[in-house]
Amino acid sequence: MMLPAAPALDPAPNTARPAAKAPAKSPAQKAMEKLGLRRDIDLALHLPLRYEDETRIVRLADARDGEVVQIEGEVMHSEVLIRSRRQLLVTVDDGSDTCLLRFLNFYPSHQKTLSVGSSVRVRGELRGGFLGREMMHPHFKLAGGELPGALTPVYPTSAGLPQVYLRKAVLSGLSRADLRETIPTEFLSKILPLRLSSLREALQFLHHPTPDVALQTLEDRSHPAWQRLKAEELLAQQISQLQARRVRAAMRAPALNGLAMRGTHCTLQQQLLERLPFRLTAAQQRVGLEIEADLKKSIPMHRLLQGDVGAGKTVVAALAAARCIDAGWQCALMAPTEILAEQHFSKLISWLEPLGIKTARLSGSQKTKERREMLALIESGEAGLVIGTHAVIQDKVVFKNLALAIIDEQHRFGVAQRLALRSKMTGGGQEPHLLMMTATPIPRTLAMSYYADLDVSTLDELPPGRTPIVTKVVNDARRDEVIARIQAQIAEGRQIYWVCPLIEESESIDLVNATQTHVALSEALPDVMVGLLHSRMPPAEKKAVMSLFTEGVMAVLVSTTVIEVGVDVPNASLMVIEHAERFGLSQLHQLRGRVGRGAAASACVLLYSTGDAPRLGEVARARLKAMAETNDGFEIARRDLEIRGPGEFLGARQSGAALLRFADLQTDAGLLAWAREVAPLMLDRYPDLAERHVLRWLGGKAEFLKA
Ligand code: ADP
Ligand code: MG
Repeated sequence: MMLPAAPALDPAPNTARPAAKAPAKSPAQKAMEKLGLRRDIDLALHLPLRYEDETRIVRLADARDGEVVQIEGEVMHSEVLIRSRRQLLVTVDDGSDTCLLRFLNFYPSHQKTLSVGSSVRVRGELRGGFLGREMMHPHFKLAGGELPGALTPVYPTSAGLPQVYLRKAVLSGLSRADLRETIPTEFLSKILPLRLSSLREALQFLHHPTPDVALQTLEDRSHPAWQRLKAEELLAQQISQLQARRVRAAMRAPALNGLAMRGTHCTLQQQLLERLPFRLTAAQQRVGLEIEADLKKSIPMHRLLQGDVGAGKTVVAALAAARCIDAGWQCALMAPTEILAEQHFSKLISWLEPLGIKTARLSGSQKTKERREMLALIESGEAGLVIGTHAVIQDKVVFKNLALAIIDEQHRFGVAQRLALRSKMTGGGQEPHLLMMTATPIPRTLAMSYYADLDVSTLDELPPGRTPIVTKVVNDARRDEVIARIQAQIAEGRQIYWVCPLIEESESIDLVNATQTHVALSEALPDVMVGLLHSRMPPAEKKAVMSLFTEGVMAVLVSTTVIEVGVDVPNASLMVIEHAERFGLSQLHQLRGRVGRGAAASACVLLYSTGDAPRLGEVARARLKAMAETNDGFEIARRDLEIRGPGEFLGARQSGAALLRFADLQTDAGLLAWAREVAPLMLDRYPDLAERHVLRWLGGKAEFLKA
């Protein structure tokens, strides 16, 4: 095989080359950068997925079917067979037994190496075939030559980056990288029962393990060398989280002490509470106090409010906003979609404007004139509350005195956007308090690791009077029955959501899907209004459709997942989700939370389609079953994490792409506890080592993690 030119890794910083003469990057180099393999240390930390054992020659008679083995023998027979397709069949005899090699793709050069009488070394998976034992497309070369002393690593790679090239690159990275210890032995000794080797030894071993290793301990990453790496990784993450916390603790935020100027009047908060048509749940009261305690401090709050869909996070946000505005400062609320921002806007206006709070709204679709007015209200400080989408973080938006930033459905925003909102605080070197809200609860282990720098408040109680949602999993072939059910609901004056899937790669397919369903439902339900809502519609149209549904004029709303978050129409009692098998569990749960908001018994129908297959796959079945079995968002998040793993669970946007590569929060809880204990000690006693350690592991990503 032709190999691309040798990799030019990590050129010394002082060998400045004129940019024009820089050679174009080869596809392999580009692929390496994509994998994050830029520095020598990145290569050294790029660990094998698995290994191939080329260290031994096995006797065929001793090998079992299903095993991957390397044999050496003589070619006894070779022929090209033309059946349904051309194939090369070669028989090899190693003195103990014979084996058939089968190639569907082959070149004359292959035939030449494998000609009768040649002595060859062959490696592949042994299978019991119709004509006796055989190997399909094995690796082969002429026999002889030295056997390697270590297992051969197989690295995670991507298109355009051949394994052989990557192996060489990793080897040279490993030899050049600075692998001096950063963790003092006094800390390592705390986990010494694991006999953790030095970092260098651990890496050298994992890249090239000796053949006597129990492969199982490499596969399940329980080998001491793996433990060592996982401990290092977790420590880097904990140190960087702790640094972030300390940086913030050193920052200043306005202490929002409310009521000072109001003499005998009640606080805005008290007034708001009196006007609410309901009483706060115990959970809302508790969480409200937690937030209040933070807001009174002059350290910026960094709090996540998590609560299941429908738990009543909005009113908690409103109370925080009221305190902030009462103290004479501005509050900004950012929501991920226009619809959601609109909903917040109307709800918060109805709560807060009667108390004399002026509200400004910002959206991408606003007319220039309106926007200019809003910007003026914000800059003069006349608007106490500012609500909007991403429009809130645009450069033109200047706050007079922002003190509290609230982000709804925070997982929908990227780290950069959160940073941008925080930077809206003007003057005095102060930071605003930050309250993030999410309905996708973060499992405890994740909270401890990725969000170690975050205080968490949890609404673990739903407002009273909710009837649990009954979830049914139904084959798409039974659509007619579902439509009959819709008719029955309509007859009772109820409203229905019908959600079509979002396939990220192909918005146009979604659209076709939603449009077709809309047509079909309109025909099936001629007496009522059936509306359509999708992400490609102009915002004004979306708004019009949404308000028809909110006002109860429209009976059925067909939509893509634009309604996923936060929409609140209590009269909607049935949700049908089409192609439910394509959604993530947490997403299904979010969607389902759109119903069951009123007193009426509510239901969710998960329509699945098996496509061409006779039945739904095992995993998909288990996932949908989980949805039918529980309404508890925390339980669902736990199962989702189990099925998808933390990387996907968090989404790369939110994680800042600095997820754990090696450690597993479930199995490595012990190492995580160790890292949590050691991180502050490292920072206090060995700040230089701590710095080096974080840089080694997180490189440029560390800053990102701190958002
Ligand atoms: P989420 O936590 O999903 O954002 P919302 O804040 O939208 O939930 O609240 C869902 C619904 O419950 C809203 O209609 C809201 O007015 C109502 N609600 C909130 N708190 C209470 C309460 N303590 N008692 C009764 N209804 C409540
Ligand atoms: Mg909400």
